[in-house]
Amino acid sequence: YYDKDCPDFNYKLILVGSARVGKTSVTNRFMNDQFNEQEKSTKTVQISRKMVKIEHTQNKWTQLHVWDTLGQEKFKSLAPLFFRKAIGAFLVYDVTNRESFESLDGWFQQLSNNIDSRVIIMLIGNKCDMPNREVPYNVAMEYARARNFGFLEVSAKTGMNVRNAFNCLVREIYRNT
Ligand code: GDP
Ligand code: MG
Repeated sequence: YYDKDCPDFNYKLILVGSARVGKTSVTNRFMNDQFNEQEKSTKTVQISRKMVKIEHTQNKWTQLHVWDTLGQEKFKSLAPLFFRKAIGAFLVYDVTNRESFESLDGWFQQLSNNIDSRVIIMLIGNKCDMPNREVPYNVAMEYARARNFGFLEVSAKTGMNVRNAFNCLVREIYRNT
C-alpha cells in the first residue's frame, strides 16, 4: 500500500527548447496516456504545473512536477522561477527543424545559468514520426554524448519513446540523489 498523498520523492522537471518543438505535446502525451494521472493546474503568469505519480525501481512513489511554459520561450528567455529547484530538465528540439537544434546551445546556456550542475539533463528530439527530417540521429547523439546528456528521439504524436524518456530521466535523477 502506498500513500498517494505522501510520495517518497518529489522531482521537479522542466522542458526547455524553442517554441513549437512539442514541449507541451510531449508533456501531455506522458501525463494522459501512460500513467496514473493527477493533474493540478496552477496557472500563474509564468507557468503551468502538472503532477503525476509514477512507480519506479524500488516500488517507491515519485511525484513528478512537470513544468511546462505558457509560451514565454518565444521571447527566448524564461524567468528564474521556472528553473528554480528543478532536478531534471529535458532539452527539446524538433527533428524536422534544424534551427530548433541549432538553438540548443542557447537554451543550454540559459539552463546552466539558472540551475546547479547536479541537475540531470536529457536531450530529446521530438516529431520522429515525420518523414521530413532535418537533424540526423547521429548528429544529435554526438551532441548529447559530448555533454554527457541522455538522448532519445521521441514522438508525442505516436507516443514513441515518450514514457521511456521520462523513465530514463527519473532513473538518472534517482541514481544521483
Ligand atoms: P511547444 O511550443 O514546444 O509547447 O510545442 P507544442 O506542443 O505546442 O507543439 C507544436 C506543434 O507541433 C503542434 O501543432 C503539435 O501538434 C505539433 N507536434 C508536437 N509534437 C509532435 C509530434 O511528435 N509529431 C508531430 N507530427 N507533430 C507534433
Ligand atoms: Mg507549449
